Amino acid sequence: MSSEGRPVITIRGLTKAYKKGATAEADLALKGIDLDVMEGEFLILLGPSGCGKTTLLRSIAGLEQPTGGTIAIDGQEVFNGAGRIHVDAERRPISMIFQSYALWPHMTAAQNVAFPLQCAKVKRSEIKTRVDEILNKVGIGHLGDRYPSQMSGGQQQRLALARALVVGKRIVLFDEPLSNVDAQVREQLRYELVSMQRTLGFTAIYVTHDQTEAMELADRLAVMSLGRISQLDEPQVMYDSPRDIHVARFLGQSNEIRFTVDAASGSTVTGQVASGDVVSARIAGESAASVRSGQTMSAFGRLADFTIGAPGSKGTGPAANDWPGTIVSERFLGTHWEVLVNAAGQQLRCWLPPEGHMGYSKDTWVTVHVGMTALKALSEDTP
Ligand code: ADP
Ligand code: MG
Repeated sequence: MSSEGRPVITIRGLTKAYKKGATAEADLALKGIDLDVMEGEFLILLGPSGCGKTTLLRSIAGLEQPTGGTIAIDGQEVFNGAGRIHVDAERRPISMIFQSYALWPHMTAAQNVAFPLQCAKVKRSEIKTRVDEILNKVGIGHLGDRYPSQMSGGQQQRLALARALVVGKRIVLFDEPLSNVDAQVREQLRYELVSMQRTLGFTAIYVTHDQTEAMELADRLAVMSLGRISQLDEPQVMYDSPRDIHVARFLGQSNEIRFTVDAASGSTVTGQVASGDVVSARIAGESAASVRSGQTMSAFGRLADFTIGAPGSKGTGPAANDWPGTIVSERFLGTHWEVLVNAAGQQLRCWLPPEGHMGYSKDTWVTVHVGMTALKALSEDTP
């Protein structure tokens, strides 16, 4: 779904200190989060372990009390650090789905779904109707009498969704729900989850540290680093234009070539790798005016954007982005060959289409090439 329309959750300046009275920025698990979550969108929080994803999710759900800032749902504040507002989790229109779904094993599917309604003191006659209705909606109406252990992974996921949505919650938070699931099954579950979300129309915030999962699921993607949101964009935009070096590194699947700047003009920067090879790249994430001669930058290029010349074609001059090197290894990965080359002072990974692959023996001299516009230069200094 699109991220246009109105925000359903609005977060401003959110901070969280687990240590009582901690004020030093280094001690904050959340360092001032600003975030708008749009109605009906699938928003992904992506970042390395410890960057604050769970803390943010639990703060939104009301399971954790932040230290400062505000959270509003549908324009109503549910948390305000200064105004001492903290609405209980049960009174927020939010459900949370944890790792492995946390279904109750001793209850049937229907009993699992009925439980939140019983807690909400819904009349018995109405419970039955609502349970049947939601189980049908998620496509497991015929499995009400089964126990979770008698259901497939996909059916369990549907059950978890039914239980999350049955009391009328419109926002579902997921904290790495698939991290214990086999890779193959996980792909299927992801696919089903997105299709369920489209059908049922809830707003989803989904935490993961898996880039592939993030790219597949996200309408928009927030990359977190050290208690901050480094960048929030659609996956494609993020991939093409990472704002800083942390985002570029975390999105992975690229070669990072560190170099010292010689000159910058317009949107292009040129410099030298420690090995003496010359790099020319497009400046990303900041204006050329702030790039200084002598500073360290990293050029990021997708693995598929590197090409390798014919064996034996050891380059002669220091041409930009034409680096002589030796073959380390090669292997076929189904859709492409991955060839490792020692060049530009490091080991580069190159993904070659089957037709562009010539069979390279170990230690053969070759020239690695990458286009200037395919390299994005980011500075190490950005926070
Ligand atoms: P993530 O989910 O991205 O792995 P968390 O939100 O769990 O990260 O943790 C963010 C930071 O807060 C980490 O430094 C972590 O050690 C700390 N932290 C998380 N929970 C607690 C807690 N209950 N008490 C103290 N520190 C915590
Ligand atoms: Mg976590």
